[in-house]
Amino acid sequence: MLKYMFIGLVLFCTACTKEVDLFSGESAFAYLEKQCSFGPRNPGSKGHAECKQYLMAELQQFADTLFVQEFELIVPGDSKKSTLTNIIARFNPNAQQQILLGAHWDTRPWADQAFEYKSRPVLGANDGASGVAVLLELAKMFSNNPPSVGVSIVLFDAEDFGSAGNPKTFARGSQHFASNLPIAKPDYAIIIDMVGDAELSLPIERNSFRQNRKLIKELWGQAADLDLKAFVPSIKHTVFDDHVPLFEIAGIPSIDIIDFDYPNVYQNYWHTHEDTPDKCSAESLEQVGTLLVHHIYGIK
Ligand SMILES: [Zn+2]
Repeated sequence: MLKYMFIGLVLFCTACTKEVDLFSGESAFAYLEKQCSFGPRNPGSKGHAECKQYLMAELQQFADTLFVQEFELIVPGDSKKSTLTNIIARFNPNAQQQILLGAHWDTRPWADQAFEYKSRPVLGANDGASGVAVLLELAKMFSNNPPSVGVSIVLFDAEDFGSAGNPKTFARGSQHFASNLPIAKPDYAIIIDMVGDAELSLPIERNSFRQNRKLIKELWGQAADLDLKAFVPSIKHTVFDDHVPLFEIAGIPSIDIIDFDYPNVYQNYWHTHEDTPDKCSAESLEQVGTLLVHHIYGIK
């Protein structure tokens, strides 16, 4: 039985309970470019303030409820406290099963991996904008075709704020969220970060495997069934990202879908001024979006 019918392209998924639109990588990529049009979006910057307004306005159109969770921190290089913002968009908030999908919307204030101009902020096309772009496109789909499970899309601030070698200075938005849960604890969380790399490769991140092995097996298995070649079923890298505070502070079994070799093991654009939209692709966003569409609409 199909509850929703659409004109245009639809996909059929054997695990899905209903037909849904295809995830459009092109449309998601436009969201990536739009975020980059505000310039660097590090806390305290003009781009950060402008992009926040844009994200709020965009999600307002789609979500059942939208609210923010604000907190204050001293921004490095600044003497006064700045207000930072986690943005929370909820879909089907009264459903029994609740899933959190998250990404960080801030970008790094420095290019510490660059060879020069290290003190200048990065544009963060991949490291920041890519995950948010996929989630905005999903928000649009959830509004057109409400999932039967509850989904909270959380855009975390100040993920990329920290100093190298000191993990607790990173992921400040998710640390605040996990310490002051503004929603009932979700069943699990999926974080996406750096999913726009044109040479996308998504091995299993080690903390994710430790924190929710069952979900990892399910997602990477589903990616294989869908022939999404970026998903590599082997463990590589240990990353401190927003999924770690969600698990360690709030006990939410959380995973991170992340491409840490950007673009590959021989070159690096991560935390440099080369993290720009031309290094990313719609096809990469589409692989991640397609898996999440199948996962969310496939939940019975
Ligand atoms: Zn980063």
